[in-house]
Amino acid sequence: MTSVISYRNTKTDFWASLDAGRNAIVCPCCGTHMSLQISASYQLMLTREASVHLNQQLEFYRRTILAVERVLRRHNSTAFVDPVKGSPFPLEERLVSFKGEFSNPNGTAMRGLLSKLDIEKLDAIVQKWPRLREMEGTSDKSAERSKRMTSQDLLQLVQMPTLTAGLNVIVFDQPSTEDVLARFKPVDILHEIRQQSPGKEPIPVNSVAQYLLAHFPCIMRYCSYLARTDQPVEDECLIRLLSILLVYFAHQATGTREFTFGTHIQLRNWHTVAELLTSYHYVSALQDVFPKYVGHIEALTSSAQDASGDDDILKLGSFDNVAKFQSWKDKVPEFEKVVLYTLDFACSGPMTAISEDAEIVVRRDNKKETASSPFGMGSHGYPLLG
Ligand SMILES: [Zn+2]
Repeated sequence: MTSVISYRNTKTDFWASLDAGRNAIVCPCCGTHMSLQISASYQLMLTREASVHLNQQLEFYRRTILAVERVLRRHNSTAFVDPVKGSPFPLEERLVSFKGEFSNPNGTAMRGLLSKLDIEKLDAIVQKWPRLREMEGTSDKSAERSKRMTSQDLLQLVQMPTLTAGLNVIVFDQPSTEDVLARFKPVDILHEIRQQSPGKEPIPVNSVAQYLLAHFPCIMRYCSYLARTDQPVEDECLIRLLSILLVYFAHQATGTREFTFGTHIQLRNWHTVAELLTSYHYVSALQDVFPKYVGHIEALTSSAQDASGDDDILKLGSFDNVAKFQSWKDKVPEFEKVVLYTLDFACSGPMTAISEDAEIVVRRDNKKETASSPFGMGSHGYPLLG
């Protein structure tokens, strides 16, 4: 009778390979060495739990980009300008202030919370920007001189650091993102929209550019203006901005697959992991599960803003990662739990052929499973005849 046994690396194997200091552990599945020092010896993946959190963040980010477009549209429409200052109707001051804020303790706390979300600041940022008709020279030039904006301003507005830290890094590391950007080249789209001029007959463009022009008319007009004026032809900020729009929205124009954090999201390196594990949105999602960890990171973030030293900042993707890893393990509460909650892994060792009479001696912390398929869910599987 032929039976097939497949082995699978466990989380304990993973942790042991990270925690072994300068030594490598022998992979219980394939026998090659695995160690934090040999980054090619294993692959990092997100767990299901982490994927769920990131999918929610992704959805929120998509809606935020749409909100940016709406705010720019209001900024450029006189329909939303109220030329009469003040109100003839006195407001009940005890409850609501002039700006529509509640002036009780709950209201103040809520305002503090909302101010942390960039979306609440969009109007204030955009107010300082010139309107399109000022930039495009269809109105008084003097206004343009007092207000300025660059392609970097535009990118910052769409990129929103507190919202996308960790998120965009992981998204842009995925092969599917590379495929989208190889198919719909942001440089080509930038060239196409540069040809468009306000007040002139639109020049036909490809379907993706057409979609972006129709759904993000203001962002695209700012882009087109900035690309036509004093920017270099392939302005990095504009390319990045278009790449973000393409990755998150091109599927709607082309019927291709929407990007999500489904299964098999791989992380390129520990630097990405570190960004995720300290990012505002991911850490907030961990609040109920790992309160001690969250408290530590929040304290770290506020002290990092005062001090310039970066000794405490989680940075594992470097040659001194063993030392950093040990120090984080010692200092950060629930570190091991958070890492294992967030990450899964696969040993990247070769598939091993085992001869019929081979004897398996050591399987550290490993489950033996009898399965009908030689290549089950695990990172390793090989047939063993017996
Ligand atoms: Zn292995």
